[in-house]
Amino acid sequence: MIVCKFGGTSVASAEQIQKVANIVKSNPARKIVAVSAPGKRSGDDIKVTDLLINLAMAALKNEDIEEELQIVVNRFMAIADGLELDYTICDVIAEDLRERVQGDQSNKELFIDSIKAAGEDNNAKLIATYFNSIGMSARYVSPKDGLVVNDLPERTYALPEAYANLAPLKYTKEIIVFPGFFGYTKAGILRTFDRGGSDITGSILAAAVEAELYENFTDVDCVFSANPKVVNDPVEIKEITYREMRELSYAGFSVFHDEALMPVYKIGVPVNIKNTNNPSAPGTRIVPRRSVTGRPVTGISADSGFSTLYVSKYLMNREVGFGRKLLQILEDENISYEHTPSGLDDISVIMRSNQITLENEERILSRVKNELNADDVQMRHGFSMIVIVGEGMRNNTGLAARAATAISKTGANIEMINQGSSEVSLVFGVLQEFENQILQALYGEFFAHVRV
Ligand code: ASP
Repeated sequence: MIVCKFGGTSVASAEQIQKVANIVKSNPARKIVAVSAPGKRSGDDIKVTDLLINLAMAALKNEDIEEELQIVVNRFMAIADGLELDYTICDVIAEDLRERVQGDQSNKELFIDSIKAAGEDNNAKLIATYFNSIGMSARYVSPKDGLVVNDLPERTYALPEAYANLAPLKYTKEIIVFPGFFGYTKAGILRTFDRGGSDITGSILAAAVEAELYENFTDVDCVFSANPKVVNDPVEIKEITYREMRELSYAGFSVFHDEALMPVYKIGVPVNIKNTNNPSAPGTRIVPRRSVTGRPVTGISADSGFSTLYVSKYLMNREVGFGRKLLQILEDENISYEHTPSGLDDISVIMRSNQITLENEERILSRVKNELNADDVQMRHGFSMIVIVGEGMRNNTGLAARAATAISKTGANIEMINQGSSEVSLVFGVLQEFENQILQALYGEFFAHVRV
């Protein structure tokens, strides 16, 4: 059995949904189909999820919601029209939206979640109706039937029992159309995953039914070895391991949600990223293991918006518990970190800058100084992380030297180097303004003239 997921652009219009039907029809193993809400039909279009967020905000402000609601209904109406479906389906959608808007507003986040999820939920119902109208026997299944998630306040994730609950779907005779992006708590409260979270739903379903393959259909042919917006015509990745994909999760690799790897990774279901607009292209396969041949580096990613907390203290290495106390201060501020490069007497903690405010920065600096008696404490902002990833890097000498030389030619100073313990990644911290130049230089070093 194959589980497939179709992203927003793949289900944005009647024409796109017809392509989806053809893809599903062309392989009888494609029995479970997870769908996003209709996404952008062109560059300046607005995703239905964003329209729904506008609707939720208007409702929370007690504004007149009719216009916002009608814009969403019109999007579905255009799709139903193009698919020659009975308009009553749009009345059902309008009724559903009204009901959601009148829902409990006592918890703002849950109220918004419930409206945001209407894009996926109604699209799944519409697509199941369409499949049946063209003779494909299909059934909408609600996440209420098993996709149980945790309660607030933590970010949404599927509870272990979700997998057992959804496992019987593997015996389905009909094609199941399942809305992506949300689940229900044990108490029956709807919660959405992070943005782009329909990938996660597809992965949960693939793991639950122990699918032979999880196909993730999007609007690009494959995952590229570097961000095509920065590097000209980068090499396509044909096969990549879960671990490599995970290490590359910075910008330029967002084609697959990084949290979506976890469910399939646990039981080793391979993932195939494919293009709805070009389904015969082989796409990129994400697999548990692969044999490493040829090039040691699989991909290079980069992201800006990092800050570093630098702490130095003489004889730090002899002080039991120093690291724990330092990280505790960050935990108290609810801050997560990405890397912790260290020397004998100093350590840097690298984190996303969007977690730092003027207030918590001041608190952190003074607590580190006073409670840990540090000699020097500094918070610096405006860094980018550049990550070079490849399973083949482990057995390859001189790679760091090649990377450092390539970076030095851009005139940038390397502020931090960190080799992941698994030796499949090498991270460089640099000033943000050099990011693109460095990415291009590293790509030139490791990929130019090599097309495999
Ligand atoms: N529709 C949601 C979003 O725009 C989830 C998804 O498409 O994966 O983020």
